[in-house]
Amino acid sequence: TPLSLIRNFSIIAHIDHGKSTLADRLIQACGALTQREMTNQVLDNMDLERERGITIKAQTVRLSYPAQDGKTYVLNLMDTPGHVDFAYEVSRSLAACEGSLLVVDASQGVEAQTLANVYQAIDANHEIVPVLNKVDLPAADCDRVKEQIEEVIGIPADDAVEVSAKTGLNIEAVLEALVKRLPPPKGDASAPLQALLVDSWYDPYLGVITLVRVKEGRLKRGMRIRMMSTGVVHLVDQVGVFAPRMTNVDELGPGEIGYINAAIKTVADTNVGDTLTDDRRPASEPLAGFKPSIPVVWCGLYPVVADDFEKLRDSLAKLRLNDASFHYEAETSAALGFGFRCGFLGLLHLEIIQERLSREFDLDLIATAPSVVYRMLLTNGTTEELHNPADMPDQSLIEKIEEPWIRATIMVPDEYLGAVLTLCSERRGMQEDLTYVGNRAMAVYRLPLNEVVFDFYDRLKSVTRGYASFDYQMDGYEESDLVRISILVNQEPVDALSFIAHRSAAETRGRSICAKLKELIPRQLFKIAVQAAIGSRIIARETIGAMSKDVTAKCYGGDISRKRKLLEKQKEGKKRMRQFGKVEIPQSAFLAALKMD
Ligand code: GDP
Ligand code: MG
Repeated sequence: TPLSLIRNFSIIAHIDHGKSTLADRLIQACGALTQREMTNQVLDNMDLERERGITIKAQTVRLSYPAQDGKTYVLNLMDTPGHVDFAYEVSRSLAACEGSLLVVDASQGVEAQTLANVYQAIDANHEIVPVLNKVDLPAADCDRVKEQIEEVIGIPADDAVEVSAKTGLNIEAVLEALVKRLPPPKGDASAPLQALLVDSWYDPYLGVITLVRVKEGRLKRGMRIRMMSTGVVHLVDQVGVFAPRMTNVDELGPGEIGYINAAIKTVADTNVGDTLTDDRRPASEPLAGFKPSIPVVWCGLYPVVADDFEKLRDSLAKLRLNDASFHYEAETSAALGFGFRCGFLGLLHLEIIQERLSREFDLDLIATAPSVVYRMLLTNGTTEELHNPADMPDQSLIEKIEEPWIRATIMVPDEYLGAVLTLCSERRGMQEDLTYVGNRAMAVYRLPLNEVVFDFYDRLKSVTRGYASFDYQMDGYEESDLVRISILVNQEPVDALSFIAHRSAAETRGRSICAKLKELIPRQLFKIAVQAAIGSRIIARETIGAMSKDVTAKCYGGDISRKRKLLEKQKEGKKRMRQFGKVEIPQSAFLAALKMD
């Protein structure tokens, strides 16, 4: 395809503003799928995405559009996730495109992730076409939202396209705007190959599939390609495009987006952001990749059944291939045995990975308390990073300890502002700015990340009835008065439950965790003490009373089948428990205990 007939674009938006629905309509309008093949949200093909109604992985589709100027264009569409934890997926899609459709819900207006995403697109030098969606809703107010886009984002919105992705209104106008307003890609087909490795994932039938954007030269079947960062060479078995089903082609030229399948076996061989080149005629320089992602939250993942360790290792390797922002390394815990310390971009990311491990790989796991990365200056003069609260040395060996801070932007309707300000100050937040956009307040706060990872997002949602939106960036490290709180169950420390907190919050939090564990740990045949301690000093204590001897005795009459059911239920529950000394702690206790209220 000649470059002048190609348009590559991402769809960016705040969560729920209609990206995936708009993508469906564009695919349909270009006739890429028949009515029968068309399921809702074609691109959200993970079960988890459909259930939660959110997009986790960025997806790609190639469309063919006969435009009003009589020419047929190739449109490469990339749907992207909107949630703050998946910003990394967004940055990768943007690097593969020249323009963005900025979707804004006309009944809601600009939200925190609208801003975060559009700034990323501006950074990537994108041409931006604003699209006002959901104009079918009575609450839609296009004039106000256009004003907002100009005022808050600072881009012209006069010729924003007004659509309803739900009813299909004005979809043609979006396609025309793409063709007319976005620049075609640039590149030289006769130059040595340079292709950006945008994404890779594991397909059970085909092995490793790699998504690429060709910038210069041609990528052909049968070619020997070299990964420029590692020098590893592979033979290309297949080249293809997503139309949206995988369809083989002979070659991809400059400006094109597609996949290759090159019998790549190991994770280490596909570094997202790497440049592929022709082994026989290599390019002199790699493309500018994108920033590597840095995990901000770590937790331990351990198999409930120790025999599952190898299976867990295998599954993590496959997930990592599918998600370059996810990191892991082997670790051992006194209480939990062999497992992995895993790094995530945020708490939702953590939850999603955990859920994918249990669903796609059928693994029962225990997750330990999530922790941010602390920096310690030790009395012996060395600096160390602390990823795991259990590794924190004795206070006497620590000169000082620093914690990461974030800069958060929160947008919220006026009437909930008070609740948001209270929440932020409870979490040691410092207000930097407070402005108004119409009747919505935009508060900018600096907050310690430690106060945000556990449940800030949940709390924010609940105190604003879901009306607040939230986005953040990392904003440096600062010294802080932090202590490690250990949790003892039946006098035994459970390293997986220890956590780090600001000294001022230690007692309250210790008490609330003990109280929660009292509810979460089932009664056993003996009394159990649950304690929180800083060093050897006990700061909180609860007691779980002993259980009456025979649970089944509670079943009156001699209903055998009922008794059996109850026993089976207990057995089922046991599978999800871990033994700590004499005490069994259910898997669910680990994360739940740490949510604060
Ligand atoms: P995404 O998170 O940006 O991908 O948003 P989705 O495409 O998943 O849409 C979020 C919700 O808004 C879904 O319930 C859609 O059915 C709904 N929605 C999307 N577009 C429209 C529209 O034009 N009008 C109305 N009324 N609802 C829409
Ligand atoms: Mg979506």
